[in-house]
Amino acid sequence: HAQFAVKRAKTSGRTELYHIRAFDIAREQFGIETQLRRAIENGEMTLSYQPICDLGTGKLVSFEALARWTTERGVALSPNDFIPVAEESGLIVPLGRWAMGEAARTLASWDQAAGGDCGVKVAVNLSAIQLQRDRIPEMVQAALEQHGISGSRLTLELTESAIVSDPDRISRTMLALKDLGTTLAMDDFGTGYSNLAYLQKLPIDQLKIDRSFVSGMLADRDKIAIVRAVLSLAQALGMETTAEGIETNELAQTLAALGCTYGQGYLYARPLEPDAAWSLMLARNA
Ligand code: C2E
Ligand code: MG
Ligand code: MG
Ligand code: MG
Repeated sequence: HAQFAVKRAKTSGRTELYHIRAFDIAREQFGIETQLRRAIENGEMTLSYQPICDLGTGKLVSFEALARWTTERGVALSPNDFIPVAEESGLIVPLGRWAMGEAARTLASWDQAAGGDCGVKVAVNLSAIQLQRDRIPEMVQAALEQHGISGSRLTLELTESAIVSDPDRISRTMLALKDLGTTLAMDDFGTGYSNLAYLQKLPIDQLKIDRSFVSGMLADRDKIAIVRAVLSLAQALGMETTAEGIETNELAQTLAALGCTYGQGYLYARPLEPDAAWSLMLARNA
C-alpha cells in the first residue's frame, strides 16, 4: 500500500502530502481493490474498441481493446487509475485473462457476422507485471482456441518496462507469441527507460509512437524531430509504426507524408462499444 501511496502522491504532484494522506490512500486502495476483484468476478468490466487506420489508404485495419470499469457507485474509472491497482494487487492476471478472452470472443462474433475473416485485427495490451506473473503464451493460445481465432488476427501491445524487468524471460515469451502468429507492438515507445539494444534482439513488428510526442508536434520542432527519428529508426529496422493521439486531419496527413504506417486517435474515433465499433468498420471500409 505504501508503494501505491508514493505513486499516487507523485503523479498528483503533491509529494509533500504523502505522510498525512498515506492511511487514507491505503484505505481507498483497499476499497478499490475489493471492488475490482468483485467486478472481474461478476463480469462488470467491459472493453471499448478504438480504430487504428492505415494512413496511406485510410482503411480501418484494427481495433485496440481498452478496458473500462464503472464502479458500483457509478463512477467511471480510467484504466490509468485501476490498472496500477490491478498490478499491485495481482488482479492484473485475472483481468488480463478476461480481457484476452473477451477481445477474442468479440472478434469471433464480428467474423461470424461477416461470414468469415471480417478483415480487422484486435490489439490487446499486456502489462509488464502480467507478463511476469502469468504464462502468457499458454493463456493467449487458450483464448484463441476457445474462440476459433487465428493468431494472425491478434496484435499484442507490450511496454518497455516489460523488457527492463526480465529480458531473458520476455525474449522467450515473445518468441513463443510469434510462434502463435501474433503481431507484437511496442506501446508508448520513447517514454520508457530501456536501452535501444533490445530492438535488434527481440521480435518486434511495430512501434507505437506515444501520444505525448504526436499531439502538438506540428507546433513543436523538438517533438517533430523525435517523431521523425522514431520513424526512420523503425523503417531501418523493418518495423511498422503507429502514431497515437491523432486528433486532426493535418496531423494525419503530415504523419502519412513522413511514412508512418498507421494512425490512432480521436480523429478516427474515440474508443467505442463493440456494436458501434462494428458499424464504424462497415461504414469506413465499405
Ligand atoms: P495505451 O495502450 O497507450 O492506449 C491508448 C490510450 O490513449 C487510451 O486511453 C485511448 O483512449 C487514448 N487515446 C487514443 N487516442 C487519443 C486521442 O486522440 N487523444 C487523447 N487525448 N487520448 C487518446 P485509455 O483507454 O484511458 O487507456 C489508458 C492506458 O491504460 C492504455 O494506454 C493502456 O496502457 C492501459 N490499458 C487499457 N486497457 C488495458 C488492458 O486491458 N490491459 C492492460 N494491461 N492495460 C490496459
Ligand atoms: Mg496500447
Ligand atoms: Mg499506446
Ligand atoms: Mg499511450
